[in-house]
Amino acid sequence: MNATPFTATVLGTPRIGPNRELKRATEKYWAGELRRAELEAVAAGLRRDTWAGLAAAGLDSIPVNTSSYYDQVLDTAVLVGALPERVAGISDDLDRYFAAARGNAAVAPLEMTKWFDTNYHYIVPEIGPATTFSLNPAKVLGELAEAVELGIPARPVIVGPLTFLALSKAVDGADAPLARLDELTEVYAELLGTLADTGAEWVQIDEPVLVTDICAEAPTLAAKVYNRLGGLSKRPAIFVATYFGDPGAGLPALAGTPVEAIGVDLVYGPNTAIATVPELASKTLVAGVVDGRNIWRTDLQAALSKLATLLGSAESVVVSTSCSTLHVPYSLTPETELDDALRSWLAFGAEKVAEVAILARALGEGREAVADEIDASNAAVASRRCDPRLNNAAVRAEIARITAAGSQRGSAESRRDAQGARLDLPPLPTTTIGSFPQTVEIRKARAALVAGRIDEAEYTKQMKAEIAAVIRLQEDLGLDVLVHGEPERNDMVQYFAEQLDGFFATRNGWVQSYGSRCVRPPVLFGDVTRPEPMTTAWARYAQTLTDKPVKGMLTGPVTILAWSFVRDDQPLADTANQVALAIREETVDLESAGIAIIQVDEPALRELLPLRDADKEAYLRWAVGAFRLATSGVADSTQIHTHLCYSEFGEVIGAIADLDADVTSIEAARSHMEVLDDLNAIGFSNSVGPGVYDIHSPRVPSTEEMVTSLREALDAVPAQRLWVNPDCGLKTRKTDEVTESLRNMVSAAKAVRV
Ligand code: GLN
Ligand code: ZN
Repeated sequence: MNATPFTATVLGTPRIGPNRELKRATEKYWAGELRRAELEAVAAGLRRDTWAGLAAAGLDSIPVNTSSYYDQVLDTAVLVGALPERVAGISDDLDRYFAAARGNAAVAPLEMTKWFDTNYHYIVPEIGPATTFSLNPAKVLGELAEAVELGIPARPVIVGPLTFLALSKAVDGADAPLARLDELTEVYAELLGTLADTGAEWVQIDEPVLVTDICAEAPTLAAKVYNRLGGLSKRPAIFVATYFGDPGAGLPALAGTPVEAIGVDLVYGPNTAIATVPELASKTLVAGVVDGRNIWRTDLQAALSKLATLLGSAESVVVSTSCSTLHVPYSLTPETELDDALRSWLAFGAEKVAEVAILARALGEGREAVADEIDASNAAVASRRCDPRLNNAAVRAEIARITAAGSQRGSAESRRDAQGARLDLPPLPTTTIGSFPQTVEIRKARAALVAGRIDEAEYTKQMKAEIAAVIRLQEDLGLDVLVHGEPERNDMVQYFAEQLDGFFATRNGWVQSYGSRCVRPPVLFGDVTRPEPMTTAWARYAQTLTDKPVKGMLTGPVTILAWSFVRDDQPLADTANQVALAIREETVDLESAGIAIIQVDEPALRELLPLRDADKEAYLRWAVGAFRLATSGVADSTQIHTHLCYSEFGEVIGAIADLDADVTSIEAARSHMEVLDDLNAIGFSNSVGPGVYDIHSPRVPSTEEMVTSLREALDAVPAQRLWVNPDCGLKTRKTDEVTESLRNMVSAAKAVRV
């Protein structure tokens, strides 16, 4: 294989546009306001700009085929001809693609789930008996041709066959998708031939599944696939990329095949045993030393030392990001409101590319060639280390004090008695998960406040009016435990981040979450403190409007971490405890304000679960510890609720019980209450509110179907422990849907009570 060697690259880039241009264009296309050619022009322009930026920064191999109208896994399903039959009849290929992603009036979309342990969601391919694979390379060939035309040293990127099948779902009684690996590998073989014909010197094949324990045979299967693909006589040089962790046995397995280059993530797999794999001596090692998924500036000195240790183990060493920078914002340039110190600690997408180029130069020309850059990096490292905002002795001492005393509440029984006496609730109490619809008026008011068209007082007045309306509605419907409806919250994490010290919100730090949807995670950079109460005024106001108990509503420490960019200079567990302490202070203030029930949401508990089985227990221990720290500061007579959603609780079910919340509301409507049996199996004995209807759909559920759900639930849980609620917050729904659904829900509860 005589491919041109390279020295500096990234595994992929953000693609939604520096100002979310692709998001806007795509949504207009969906709304029928933009023609296909116009959408394609926006995407092509973004690709050109991205490639030009990477080339100008000094990268000598540039990933292409990383742009996407929705998702790279869905793109791969199209590439290998594996879209399900139900969309196959749609003649326009782009409409077919979007129908698979989002559904339409006639077809249900494919499922969506988290991409490894990131906050990005991919479309889950369906592999059934009817699935046939066939090569459909128009997208990758088109992007390759565009790049070649522009003189870009292009390297097409595709999701590997092993990862593709491991992440797919078997449907219609088919065997596990990996049973089709040999067959699918032949489609990749054909693709490699086609790429070679089109002039690709290199191809990057992503196999992140090798850093997980999803499939025990993955290393063996990888050896088989890459022996086959590596043995082809006509193909580009193959670079297999692993990322998000240590590939373990996957590394020697890949190194034993004829592939030319192997990528390792040395940020999330710092102990990857490179030196113990002799076969790497004849390979190119693509060393991911620049963090591709968090926003901290690289310690160039440390990275360079790491790179130096690799030089003897491989034929050549390429500098790279640890993974695609899809997971970080485009650039620091728009972040004009940061102080100089804070700014100097950060690197977004563009800054990471520059770091890769600097490190590659140091490797090629010697450290002196980039001495100034290394000095600047050292200065940033030093400034971050000694900044007082990162080390608040009082917070640390308080956490040590509470953890030493033990974050224990009274026994479940004494809590139940104390709460029963205080609350006077009927059996099967009805409640909601917290948010009510975020109406146009609410969003308008928030935008007006941000733009300075209304002042804080006017905004508060409008929010109070909304709270009053929501309380009235709940009283009319006859709910037992009311909520204030969360109108004042833009987002359940950002709302708290904006009020806590140790966080900052970016101006333009958007990252793709799924499809056209972007999020702007706050940055948790320092020790977290709560300067003043965050939610009590709203809760207290809501409680003045009703004699029914109003539930205080907080976001839990794990979820706040999961949806932020978090400092990397101390264990996550320590940071979680600091957030937990702030939430704990808030629970105590809510209690003093007369709030008898406080819900601490942890929908992201499952999300931060480590990729390797061996690391899961330690994570669950600190996650549970942080929740308990947050919730053990109140009296036994104050009822603590938690809420979890996003399904698949299997691996975290024990931890859910360990949270020891008095009441746990949990998504169950789509899984037919199975979660209750799982909870029983581990001896869970606190109260539980399995969602009786799915809020993700506009459909209004009938009383009868919720009665059926509740009867099903009563087979698993006695009436004294059962709550009645929807399966998640109502913020995305319309007020009339919510009114009808909750009316039916209350009737269902009443019907089952008698
Ligand atoms: N309390 C939040 C709400 O009702 C919970 C949201 C969630 O579970 N993601 O919106
Ligand atoms: Zn939820």
